[in-house]
This record gives sequence, structure tokens and C-alpha cells, in this order.
Amino acid sequence: MQELTVNLHMHTIYSDGSGTHADLGRAALKTGVDVLLVTDHNTLVQGVDGYFREGKKRALILVCEEIHDQDRNPQKNHLLVFNADQELSTLADDPQTLINAVQRSGGLSFIAHPVDPEMPAFGETDISWEDWNVTGFTGIELWNGFSEFKTVAKGRLDAIYYAFFPQALPHGPLQRTLQIWDNLLSEGRRVVAIGGSDAHALHLSLGPLRRTVFPYEFHFSCINTHIFTSTRLTGDLLDDRKMVFDALGKGHCFIGYDLPASTHGFRFSAHGRSINAMMGDEIVAEGTVTLQAKLPHVAEIRLIKDGECIKKMKGEALTYIAKEPGAYRIEAYKHFLGKSRGWIFSNPIYVK
Ligand SMILES: [Zn+2]
Ligand SMILES: [Zn+2]
Repeated sequence: MQELTVNLHMHTIYSDGSGTHADLGRAALKTGVDVLLVTDHNTLVQGVDGYFREGKKRALILVCEEIHDQDRNPQKNHLLVFNADQELSTLADDPQTLINAVQRSGGLSFIAHPVDPEMPAFGETDISWEDWNVTGFTGIELWNGFSEFKTVAKGRLDAIYYAFFPQALPHGPLQRTLQIWDNLLSEGRRVVAIGGSDAHALHLSLGPLRRTVFPYEFHFSCINTHIFTSTRLTGDLLDDRKMVFDALGKGHCFIGYDLPASTHGFRFSAHGRSINAMMGDEIVAEGTVTLQAKLPHVAEIRLIKDGECIKKMKGEALTYIAKEPGAYRIEAYKHFLGKSRGWIFSNPIYVK
């Protein structure tokens, strides 16, 4: 099994970002990201899917889309659409119709920034997801870099502080988003969690101060979605594309905040009498199932079952004998810049 680092949810000059696809590719090579999922607003940019190469290094760029109803007032319901291979933004006025169309096209849909508060000092409105009656979506963007900014930047001074010290920003997914996810899981639904940058690399000028706020490189070294695949990237676009979206669709992935320490190497697995399972998988308990988490560095590890923390410890590994069905997942926290911060959020293993 291989682990690839995917950075997803970013905007270019084709919507409200400042960079080109080549700028993204360069930033990916600098930061060691394997795959980028580029999601401009309501436009499926053509002709840029492929590998960005420099010397022997390469990063795979896959063009996806972030879709919302531009006529809706107030603005809500942003959906990340991967691998649909067709322009579906005309269906944005009805989220369920849009999600159904994504499903029919063989694509994946993730609810973007499910909780996204307003930021009145900058005229930014609340663009949370509202239509929670929808079904059939693949998952949710559990951790969104920009939503988090909106919760802490109450005024211009805060914004300037985080523009110059962006590394102080990430703390973890918003509690309300975690709650929504756990509620969906407790209902017995399978909901894949991914982490998104929502990178724009906007140019800010305040008097004499000029700054690119949260450059792409910064985002790519922060909140990544680490996926598990059968091989490294092969260089065959169709094969690699399929492999990446298969892993995301099955929830064979975890969210890692890679700035305090690389999360590469994290594993969470389940071992039954005759079968094993990984994150995103279902396992039938024939008696008991042993859950195992292994971390690349020491951290505070929490095992969560259906929204409840059932074991908490400090270390590099956790083992637990599960006797009851439920959605089991791991959270890990690490001390960084004077605070305990979210470091790893696994997808659940569904014990049946
Ligand atoms: Zn959005
Ligand atoms: Zn976005």
C-alpha cells in the first residue's frame, strides 16, 4: 500500500484565485505534494489535467470544480465536485439534483466548508451548507482552511496578524462541523471526510503593506488529505486519475496538518478473525475486532466511536478491542506554537 499526499480545494485566475495552474504545480513540487485537485468556482477548466514536471519531480494536477448557485441570496451550499467530467454548474439551484447528477456521471461530491461563519469586517458572509436533507453525497470537507480564518479574524488587526503569521492559524476542524459529521455517522451513514485548503493566494495591500495572503505553498504544507493507493503515481493519466478518485470515494484517506510535523506514515486499521480493514472500510465483527492506530510521532491520540471519545492517551500507537458495532475514528493532537492543535483526523472504520 502506498500513501500519496493530496492537496485539494484551490482557486486560480479562472475564478477568484491569483495564480495559474503552473504556479500551483511549482508550489506542489516545492512542498512535496503528489496530487492537486483544483476547484475553480462554477467552471470546469479544460486542457490542464496532467503532470507538472521539473527535472525528475512531478505533481499530478486534476481539474475539478466548486459549484454553487450564483443567483441564490444569501449565498450558501458550495459543493466540491470531482471526476464528473462534465460541466454541472447549471444544476446548482437544486443541491439534490446536482448531487444526483454527479453520482450518475461517476463523480464524487463533497459538501464544502459545511460551517462557514460570516466575517463582517471584510464583508464576507456566512456561506455554510444549509440543505442537510440531501443524500447521496460522498462526504464533507471536514477541515477548511478559510472557514477557520473566518472564525478568528474578527477585525483588520487579526487579519494582518494571520497574513504575516499564517502558521498560527490552523487549530483543527470547527467543532460544529465535527458534530455534524459525527451525527451523520451515528445515523449509520457513510460519509468520507477530506481536508481542503480553499487556497486563493490573494494579494493584499493595506497602505504601504503588500502581501500575498496564504500563498499556495503555505497551504500545501498545511492541511492535506493523505490517500492510500496500490501503487505510486504511474505516469498514466487515466490510471492515476482513477486510482486517486477511487481512494477518495472509498474514504481510504485521512486528514493531516503537516506543518507541525509530517503526518506521513499514519495508519489506522482493524483486524478481525479472518479479515482486515482500513480507514473507510467496513468490517464484520466475528466476536471482537482489534483496532490499531500508528502515528509517525508522539501525540495525544483519541479514539472516537459514534461521536464519543472512548479512549485517550499520549503516545505513538493505540490498540483497542472493539466489541460493539459503530463508526470508529482517530483524532490526534500535537503541541505547536504554544497550543495543542489538531494534527490527524482519520476516516472511520465501520464495525458491523
Ligand atoms: Zn466555497
Ligand atoms: Zn473555495
